[in-house]
Amino acid sequence: MNGGIQIKWDIMVNGELMVSIKTKEYHIQPSDSKDWIFIRSPKGLKVDVEVAVLDYLYTCQPKEIEVEGHRILCSRLCCYAGCYVSLEEIERIEVLIPEILPDLQKDSQNLLKYSENRVHNPDDYDEEEEVYKIRCAPQEWEYDDDKKPDQKDKTRNADEKKDKEEKEKESSVEFTLPPKNHCIFLMEDGLCAMHKYYNDIGQNWMKHKFNICTTFPLDLRVPDRTIAFMKDFDNFAFAEVECLSPDQELKKKLGYPQIVEAMRDVITDRFGDPFWKALNKVSKDFRADLIDIDHIYSDVDL
Ligand code: SF4
Ligand code: SF4
Repeated sequence: MNGGIQIKWDIMVNGELMVSIKTKEYHIQPSDSKDWIFIRSPKGLKVDVEVAVLDYLYTCQPKEIEVEGHRILCSRLCCYAGCYVSLEEIERIEVLIPEILPDLQKDSQNLLKYSENRVHNPDDYDEEEEVYKIRCAPQEWEYDDDKKPDQKDKTRNADEKKDKEEKEKESSVEFTLPPKNHCIFLMEDGLCAMHKYYNDIGQNWMKHKFNICTTFPLDLRVPDRTIAFMKDFDNFAFAEVECLSPDQELKKKLGYPQIVEAMRDVITDRFGDPFWKALNKVSKDFRADLIDIDHIYSDVDL
């Protein structure tokens, strides 16, 4: 026993003997590396969780900040480049554009008029994740309207990809603060037009808004049953923002909550309430030093 937590030997499926920790609220088992652990709720759902998520202060509360002498909303720094989303999400939102359009900024309206309401840049496709880039206004990259979001984009050859990366590199040095570009859905008041649309029609934005914008900075993969931080999440904003600061002491002084608590609704929406409760208890016990990750991995050959 360790602070009320029962440590027991557990036979894993592959027949190996390993340490696991079992309480009334959760069961923890080793994963593939010490940076991850499997957490199982008493209801049985088992999710692979990045250990860093258990102790990270974060919440999203858009606010006015001063950048280079300008008062701006911090969302202009994290929504300046749009986001990457699936074709399915694009198709879902494109049919709603006529209803959302009046809320968009004038330059976004102009851009959409030019692109005939095509919200993404068909030339910007992430082959690994199979996602497209949402456009930015006034205009972030040149786009080719002859291209359609089909297989043609996925088979772009290496030279084209290199050209694109070089162009992006060149354009990035021209960036100034505050950024000139913004996601086409970012409204004048610094809020998201898609979020507003779903609130206005009384639908749960958490289920319909672009997934990446809903779960940021977490990457919640329901089919894979994983919870982690998005890759390079702390570089997503155009300039330093408080909510993504590595200075956890500062955030503690400012009263930031733990990310597991702040993102309760979305984690619950994706993995269910029993799992969130198990995750939250693991996070609390981990921060109280009741869970020793090294001990859990003491019998695992990594
Ligand atoms: S994620 Fe951070 S920077 Fe972006 S709107 Fe929320 S609080 Fe502001
Ligand atoms: S869709 Fe909304 S939340 Fe997502 S980047 Fe654009 S403005 Fe921001």
